[in-house]
Amino acid sequence: MAGLKDYEPVAGPQVIEELRFIAEKTQGLQVQNINSTAVGGGVAEILNRMVPLLQELGVNARWDVIKGGERFFKVTKKFHNALHGKNEDIQPDDFTAFLETGEANRRTMELGGDVIFVHDPQPITLIQEKEQKKAKWLWRCHIDVSNPDQKVWSFLRPFIDRYDGSVFSAPAFSQELPIRQFLIPPSIDPLSDKNKELSESVIGEVLNRFGLDPEKPMVTQISRFDYLKDPLGVIDAFEMVQRRVDCQLVLAGGEATDDPESTEVLMKVRDRASANPDIHVLAIPSGSDIEINALQRASSVVVQKSIKEGFGLTVSEALWKGRPTVASAVGGITLQITHKYSGLLCHSIEGAAHAIKQLLQNPDYGKKLGENGREHIRQNFLLTRHLRDYLLLFLSLFHEGDVIHL
Ligand code: UDP
Repeated sequence: MAGLKDYEPVAGPQVIEELRFIAEKTQGLQVQNINSTAVGGGVAEILNRMVPLLQELGVNARWDVIKGGERFFKVTKKFHNALHGKNEDIQPDDFTAFLETGEANRRTMELGGDVIFVHDPQPITLIQEKEQKKAKWLWRCHIDVSNPDQKVWSFLRPFIDRYDGSVFSAPAFSQELPIRQFLIPPSIDPLSDKNKELSESVIGEVLNRFGLDPEKPMVTQISRFDYLKDPLGVIDAFEMVQRRVDCQLVLAGGEATDDPESTEVLMKVRDRASANPDIHVLAIPSGSDIEINALQRASSVVVQKSIKEGFGLTVSEALWKGRPTVASAVGGITLQITHKYSGLLCHSIEGAAHAIKQLLQNPDYGKKLGENGREHIRQNFLLTRHLRDYLLLFLSLFHEGDVIHL
């Protein structure tokens, strides 16, 4: 696994030097990350790389995952959708089920350290241990909560308000809260299997394995099978494009252990795609990083047609690979794509179809957008920037109101 030094050629030596410099102040700091799944989705993706690199920088970082049953994850998925503004039927016993699993985790989970870093709503009730565990408690919200369902948001608020600080991915998500708020967008790891350079032969082998035609332009969306990622909308857009340009569509994704809805969505997508031989629906197991990397690199256009999005790591991944990208103008995607500069933003199925067609028909334009996109990601959304933000965040927790002298 890549160490800090390996990031010098990608991020620049001064960036690594600065990290080591800041980390002198955080030596031995114990930071416990807690989320609800070890695999699948953006949070697990980030923690997987963040934790070892924090350790290399001398932070005593660890990562624990709460336990929950099917009922709990059904409820948390409803909460997730509702916080994104989707209409969900939430009943009083859903709140009870949520609290019960929270209580069980409180009893069984070993909590400790200087900073307890809780990710997303699933483990949020652990804050009830605050009196017993004199750590600094942070709530890291990866969701676009700019327009949340009020029933869920007001249920969560008393928990959120007890944290020492909150972290949101984009300015638009910040809320009126009585606690400190930090704005820290996520990041991708340029050296991971998901994002590192791949040889043509590896890419060719993956295309072959999935039965894809290396000669036919490929449009790809990589996502968990989730309504909010709008895979059915992607198919509609693709079929509009297909009337003008001969191309193939890849919808690839796996399941996250905290997402019980994905099987149903996958079935609907398969059903919808079954009559079209140019649509490839690939259910890929977790950990298929080389495969995802290869699919993104082989794509003529990468799409992320989300209805709602927290940040949208898949967009960073595509841009980092210099891919022409079409994505909805939602959530953190607008931090990543400047329309007609580093990709094309869309607001509808027709808009997505128009943008995909434009990029397929103008490869030079797509290439320029991809180059700009890659540079934007290098400057703003690599893991090294994220590490720096987290180190400064930890420091600021212990120096509230002070000027921090580095
Ligand atoms: N991902 C994956 N396998 C899949 C689907 C997605 O490894 O089957 C990865 C994807 O490459 C990205 C992350 O999971 O790194 C998804 O993060 P994003 O922010 O795009 O969406 P989220 O799933 O967190 O809503």
